[in-house]
Amino acid sequence: MLKIQIKKQISATVKDKRCWLTFCATFAIALTVIAVSFNNSEVNASTTAMDATLESVENEIYNEEFSEPDNDFIADEFIAENEIEEPAPTEETRENTLILKSGDTLLNILTGLGLEYNDANDIFLAFKKVYDPRKLKAGQELQVSMLWNLPEDKLISVDGLVSEISKGERVVVEKDADGKYLSRREKDELVQELNTAAGIIDGNLSTAMNNEGVPSAVVGNFINIFSYSVDFRRDVKKGDKFEIIYENYITPDGEVVRHGDILFAALTLGKTEIELYRFEDKDGIADYYDKKGLAMKKTLSRKPMSYQNARISSPFGRRFHPIYKDYRIHWGIDYAAPKNSLVYAGGDGVVQVAKYNGGYGNYIKIRHNSEYSTAYGHMQKFAKGIRPGVRVKQGQVIGYVGSTGRSTGPHLHYEVIHNGRRVNPLKVKASASENLRGQKLAVFKKQVAKIEKTYQKMLAEKQKQAEDGNKLATNIRDQKDVNAN
Ligand SMILES: [Zn+2]
Repeated sequence: MLKIQIKKQISATVKDKRCWLTFCATFAIALTVIAVSFNNSEVNASTTAMDATLESVENEIYNEEFSEPDNDFIADEFIAENEIEEPAPTEETRENTLILKSGDTLLNILTGLGLEYNDANDIFLAFKKVYDPRKLKAGQELQVSMLWNLPEDKLISVDGLVSEISKGERVVVEKDADGKYLSRREKDELVQELNTAAGIIDGNLSTAMNNEGVPSAVVGNFINIFSYSVDFRRDVKKGDKFEIIYENYITPDGEVVRHGDILFAALTLGKTEIELYRFEDKDGIADYYDKKGLAMKKTLSRKPMSYQNARISSPFGRRFHPIYKDYRIHWGIDYAAPKNSLVYAGGDGVVQVAKYNGGYGNYIKIRHNSEYSTAYGHMQKFAKGIRPGVRVKQGQVIGYVGSTGRSTGPHLHYEVIHNGRRVNPLKVKASASENLRGQKLAVFKKQVAKIEKTYQKMLAEKQKQAEDGNKLATNIRDQKDVNAN
């Protein structure tokens, strides 16, 4: 009770706490000097009452967090004084994340926030310097840093803007000291990560690979690697096996941005095992070789398309023509496939013809070497960039299955031309490309050893994970058993 009275008295008489502070401090120093110089209990005793007063005042001023519930009256008064000295903020920085809706443009989003058209346009122009804002799509996020007027509850200015334009890549617009908007593009450093998968094929390779977590794009590349020598519809049987090591490129947060190359691909078909290793030479030309550096037997694809289950709707040779209703020679193979499924180049080469060609409909012809060309008919359309003179790789998409020209339904008409004569694509012999030797072979062998070592390590890790998983499962089962008992 006494304490409260003292405090009330102090607070009532003292308006300026700083004045009090000075006074108290001076007084305290004076007392200390006295106490020290006399250094006896008498002085100390005589100052006890004064000390009590001083302490309470100091506590109020310095240690508000220690104030007891009965100090509320004083605390309130001091806070009130504080508010007068430091006026409430009238503006604050706000970070907002906006999600683009269909029909939104950068300009209408910024003006929609309350930004003046000229400022919005400055941001738009800065943004445009590094990325076309019209490419922004619905669902994309825009982080906006704004200065906000609190009393009027409205926007003062936009000081920054960040927009993720693709995984791991963003556009940043910032205001500099002169109020000018500057823009830049930022890209996360991507990390290469190796993945492995292996499994037994139960009818369909794609399904088996997908089940082991291999993404569809990688499965497509895997099939392309073997498409020279394996017909996935005829040759792959239940119980066959696959193995693969492939690259992923990931952001620092571990998000997969894109898939890289397949470093190792193996297929066990019955008793035959085909193991292929990727090798890229100094000129950046990559190919697949067996362990000894022997080039894979290369031949034109028998079925150059994504739809590997396509059936032959009309074979090569003499047949009854469905439109002319008589017997004619069919100079290619027809593969029935869904409209718009992908058509691949049957081998590396140069596009010679890509045009609408009478009964062939949309037609492409590719020259592979001095002896061989391939031709493709009835396509719905050509792939982007496919025109005469363009170089294509085996397995590259050149067009889409359709039913243009003289055709009764969507299918690919595929021809192989050998020295000017059309031949049965299923009877074209394999031709080996160059084997590795000398320096190249030495480098390749080192790579193979490295890949093998990595693969063994990855397999061991996977096995350990599986065992740990089993242990966990067993533990859970044991736990359940205990509970059951
Ligand atoms: Zn045909």
